[in-house]
Amino acid sequence: MADFDIKMIAEELKNYDGEEVRIMEVCGTHTAAISENGIPSMLSEKIKLISGPGCPVCVTVTAVIDKLIELSMRSDTVVLTFGDLIRVKGTFKSLAEAKGEGANVKMVYSPMETVKLAKEDPSHTYVFAAIGFETTTPVYATVLEEAVKNNLNNLKLLTSLKTMPEVIRFVVKNGGGVDGFIAPGHVATITGSNIYKELSKELQIPFVVSGFEGTQLLLTIYSLVKMKGKGGFKNLYKSAVREEGNIKAKEIIQKFFEPSDASWRGMGKIPGSGLILREEYRKFDAGSDMLDEDNMPPGCRCADVLVGKIKPADCPLFGKKCTPDTAHGACMVSTEGSCYNYFISGRR
Ligand code: SF4
Repeated sequence: MADFDIKMIAEELKNYDGEEVRIMEVCGTHTAAISENGIPSMLSEKIKLISGPGCPVCVTVTAVIDKLIELSMRSDTVVLTFGDLIRVKGTFKSLAEAKGEGANVKMVYSPMETVKLAKEDPSHTYVFAAIGFETTTPVYATVLEEAVKNNLNNLKLLTSLKTMPEVIRFVVKNGGGVDGFIAPGHVATITGSNIYKELSKELQIPFVVSGFEGTQLLLTIYSLVKMKGKGGFKNLYKSAVREEGNIKAKEIIQKFFEPSDASWRGMGKIPGSGLILREEYRKFDAGSDMLDEDNMPPGCRCADVLVGKIKPADCPLFGKKCTPDTAHGACMVSTEGSCYNYFISGRR
């Protein structure tokens, strides 16, 4: 895109004086990119950006963390997890706190490390905390493929896997109002852009698939402002997102997982919004069934934030009891969380 266009777009966005437009970035990586690029300060006050439910850690219910803690207390089991999840509190404590008390919790950078550890140490069962959306699910499927190939009986997943379309419908029905969606770029690389095209038709709300660079985000927001009230769809991230998505990734997801209902932190059970292991692979499940209990920390309004009912700064605990160093709720823990990003970027 020529500089002139971006300048013109930036100027129009800054001076926009039409009806208020509420735009939701569904994906946590977009939330972080919007903060890093200082996008909110480049927009008119009449263009409101809302962070949606696409941060995996933010939407994981406490029952999942409680179960991981329970598993990690067994002498023959080691729980493996990504960094963010380790700090999120379950009903009573976080995995980090459990680790401090002697539980077997290990932070890893890739789920594939589970395969290596399980192969090297048959005396322990290695359980990976498999949380995430369509983007990470193919990696978990690859872990399972390796487990099958190597006949590993000491590798398991505790799954809390979510998919996007149903939660977007939930947000439209139960949230604070959305005029346009920045469709999740990474998820769309796997699922394809067509599902967002269909959603835009069904919901009569515009969707734009976007990458993560500042200029592309500005162009996306500009497109959504222009499309307000008219519906419509655009894919501005064609370099990575095809209409049909990543067929191989979709095939491997389908091989190991099937659609299910899923519980979302503070939002309850949303029918058809998750994935569970298929019956024939359930021996790799560490007990993911019925993990619905959701004991939100007292006063935390994460769920209202994630559906756009309030902004993080409207939570009475924001910046007081709850900061990145003293995170009270999950949305302040994750680097993709709405509250975390509002706090570190001064976004209000
Ligand atoms: Fe929850 Fe903290 Fe966000 Fe409030 S500021 S909604 S307590 S994470």
